[in-house]
Amino acid sequence: MENVVIIGSGPAAWTAAIYAARASLAPLVFEGEPQGIVLPGGQLMTTTEVENYPGFPEGVTGPELMERMKAQALRFGVRVVPEDVKSLALGDRPFTVTPNYSAPVQSHTVIVATGAYAKWIGVPNEERLAQGGGGVSACAVCDGALPFYRNKVLAVVGGGDTAMEETLYLTKFAKQVLLLHRRDSFRASKVMAQRVLDCPKVRVLWNTRVVEVLGEHAIRALRVADTVSGAERELEVGGLFVAIGHTPSTGFLGGQLRLNDAGYLWVKPGRMATSVEGVFAAGDVTDDYYRQAVTAAGSGCQAALEAERFLAHRGLHETIVVAPPAAAAAH
Ligand code: NAP
Repeated sequence: MENVVIIGSGPAAWTAAIYAARASLAPLVFEGEPQGIVLPGGQLMTTTEVENYPGFPEGVTGPELMERMKAQALRFGVRVVPEDVKSLALGDRPFTVTPNYSAPVQSHTVIVATGAYAKWIGVPNEERLAQGGGGVSACAVCDGALPFYRNKVLAVVGGGDTAMEETLYLTKFAKQVLLLHRRDSFRASKVMAQRVLDCPKVRVLWNTRVVEVLGEHAIRALRVADTVSGAERELEVGGLFVAIGHTPSTGFLGGQLRLNDAGYLWVKPGRMATSVEGVFAAGDVTDDYYRQAVTAAGSGCQAALEAERFLAHRGLHETIVVAPPAAAAAH
């Protein structure tokens, strides 16, 4: 029997784990499984430089930030299971958490911190070529350095910070980067947008929408439309990077928790409590507005404090003997 099960491995999950462990709740974290070559750790695992996380005046890479957060959690004896959670049964108490491979676990509380994943545009051939390694990707940091993309004209779609970041990253390898945005101004922060506009390797195509990806086994071109005039044309490109936002990872919950209008986990106003008492949410799975590493970490702290109070009010506390930190780190 567990006091707290935490699902996820981004800033929200590790911060919740640190707080819960220091409150003597001995949390169990399901950190998820690798996605291709990308290790668990959430979206920061595919982020290059993070310059806005306080405490790192020189900046820090996303993977290093996650490694450090996890190391801090392990220092307090947090137990980590390297598996995805397949399902949660929230109808009876304690809750049952069923991972992909190991035995189901029972817990008094659960913190859902499963984050969000990249969206696709939804045009013909996009996902087919993405799945077949045909030059379509939703992660420049994961794929951009591959020989396939070197010295080619690459397209990035989007107008937010992710699109800016991916565009700048790709300029290291590409002959030219075409940044396609459906409107005539960026949503991205001014500083990131200005870096893109100042880069001689980038050409911004405003008011441009992708209609179709062209190519049999590998991408050859994009059919694009002017969003003002409607005129269509072909753009020859050697790769497409889609950077248009994210979808929260809530599928495994089977509709047991209420969602907000944007499809993210609903929480009580000003709190991290979900629609089921004893289940808390933290990070991007519940945040369609701020979506920052530091806000995710803050909400992880809030979720852990709420779980602690929930357990204290009900007089629930399992004594869990955990291995010393050195052994936990080795695991
Ligand atoms: P975002 O801010 O939601 O931007 C998504 C962009 O994609 C928007 O420009 C949007 O266009 C466009 N878009 C959405 N659907 C589209 C479609 N179907 N076809 C074409 N374009 C489409 O998402 P994000 O860039 O992933 O950023 C998410 C959050 O993470 C933000 O808060 C951002 O600040 C943060 N972030 C920070 C950093 C950093 O600081 N290093 C890096 C990455 C992300 P419209 O503008 O027309 O809506």
